[in-house]
Amino acid sequence: MAENTTGSSKRKTKTESPARKKTKAAPAPEVPEELHAVEVSAEEPALPAADTAVKEPASPAVPEEAPAAVQEAAPAAVPEESFELPQPRRSVAFIGSECYPFVKTGGLGDVMYALPKALIKQNCDVKVILPRYKCIPWEYQEKMVYRGEFYMDLCSDGRSFYVGIMEYVWNGVVYDFIDNEDFFRSGNPYTNLVDDIPKYCFFAKAALAALNYMNWVPDIIHCHDWQAGLVPIYLRSVFSGTPVASAKVMLTIHNLRFQGIYNIATVKYWSGLPDYLFDYAVLKQGADDANMFKGGLTYADMITTVSETYAGEIQSTFFGEGLDAHLRFHSGKLRGIVNGIDTELWDSSTDRILAHRYSVADVIEKKKENKLLLQERLGLQRDAGKFVIGLISRLTDQKGLDLVDFILPELIDGNTQFVVLGTGDSRYENSFRYYEDTFRGSVCSNIMYDEGRAHQIYAGADALLVPSLFEPCGLTQLIAMRYGTVPIVRETGGLKDTVLPYNEYTNDGNGFTFDRYEAWLLLDAINRAKTLYFTNRERWDQMVIRDMEKDVSWENSAKKYRQLYMELKPNY
Ligand code: ADP
Repeated sequence: MAENTTGSSKRKTKTESPARKKTKAAPAPEVPEELHAVEVSAEEPALPAADTAVKEPASPAVPEEAPAAVQEAAPAAVPEESFELPQPRRSVAFIGSECYPFVKTGGLGDVMYALPKALIKQNCDVKVILPRYKCIPWEYQEKMVYRGEFYMDLCSDGRSFYVGIMEYVWNGVVYDFIDNEDFFRSGNPYTNLVDDIPKYCFFAKAALAALNYMNWVPDIIHCHDWQAGLVPIYLRSVFSGTPVASAKVMLTIHNLRFQGIYNIATVKYWSGLPDYLFDYAVLKQGADDANMFKGGLTYADMITTVSETYAGEIQSTFFGEGLDAHLRFHSGKLRGIVNGIDTELWDSSTDRILAHRYSVADVIEKKKENKLLLQERLGLQRDAGKFVIGLISRLTDQKGLDLVDFILPELIDGNTQFVVLGTGDSRYENSFRYYEDTFRGSVCSNIMYDEGRAHQIYAGADALLVPSLFEPCGLTQLIAMRYGTVPIVRETGGLKDTVLPYNEYTNDGNGFTFDRYEAWLLLDAINRAKTLYFTNRERWDQMVIRDMEKDVSWENSAKKYRQLYMELKPNY
């Protein structure tokens, strides 16, 4: 194995535990017989798209030792109360495509930020490996420290690419950004598959090579979604026998809808992976396609997803996105752990974006003030007595927006206002713009991505709608509860696991729910919420307080991740 392929050199691995020995390649995973049938087609690889072509490097070699300019990583902070921490310490490398506050398009960005922070409190040493996208704000770019560089073979024709490592240590978490301007130059992490497939082939391999290069071999490599789907495959193929191969690998499904599927010829060319991996048990799907997520799931030592209900759902045809049989086959290593939220970031008593901060003690009064300010800012009729419903979401089919679209005229009566914040499919964007025009003063459509506005809506709305067709976990309902905003959700995935329906007999529950994906059931759930709000405010207020007091933090889930990390014994 050429050293420039995997970033490994003769340097020894850094360990806190006994010396690690190199491991052999893992045997090919067991494959159900029916999945062996079709041969891989041997088409010519597609030529790289012009705008993803990367310049040939001046020198292909990886330096034997890190160059003088390389700065040692600052050690991750160990919390003061470390004597109380669970033992032993576990080292974990997160690999994923987005992470708040550097770059975030949805819940994955929140998790990549909050879970490492929570894991540190569980005595984990966490390094987060991310692409250094050009769109990362300058305030973070300027704080990054050069950590080293090397060249790495990638494509099946042996083309080699520059890999830079820039580092930023924050809140005890070490962030290492993989640098290559040609791959990561766009203003948005995800553009189209023509660009994204080469980008994430490069990223997956470069992340592992960077771990070898930095001499940082974790106990666990924790990968996230399809963009890191090739990591387990690289780890057990081209990286076997290198230091990093001693790590165990976990792959978390944040959303099964996106899988990184492209024709075999292109994926084979860009990944440089050997032919035997383009088999139905690993990467192959359909007649000519390769599925990067599917392959990663095959080679992962453990698969997790972001709620227990979703872990069950994705093994059914409806929710399985074509991978239900694959997931049933691998169900022995599939677990569901519900997401939490970062309760420091999402804290209405310290939230600097809010003009009127509040805690459980004064939520009822202060929420009214936040509501009035929100109404004023958004051009809604200013009246604290109105029932304000918020919706903060990507505007896509997943989010149940056709149901909202269908019932919106029924929803808007003299007492109800509706505020949406989101971007996405133009049909939803246009439909919400139309409703804003039609119901001026009662509907406000914020067709934009705006963190600040999201905070204002969580604080100022009475209820938050999450009527999703499917929802792996969902974070908006958790944030809403933390801000004393009552969620109205469909009983699917993590929504089902986190929102206990209101029970009028026991005066218990956190929100209002409906089960079948039907517009009238959504309307019925909203009407039940409105009825309680307008006819029994005392009970409504009790629910607001219950929601604020509900534990939506990462603590319990981080403990569960740690337990799984402990089950996965490294190969040293
Ligand atoms: P998904 O990951 O499917 O988009 P989640 O509910 O898991 O959905 O996470 C959504 C996250 O993105 C939440 O933090 C939410 O506040 C945020 N968000 C979604 N849309 C917007 C927007 N238009 N502006 C600001 N934040 C948004």
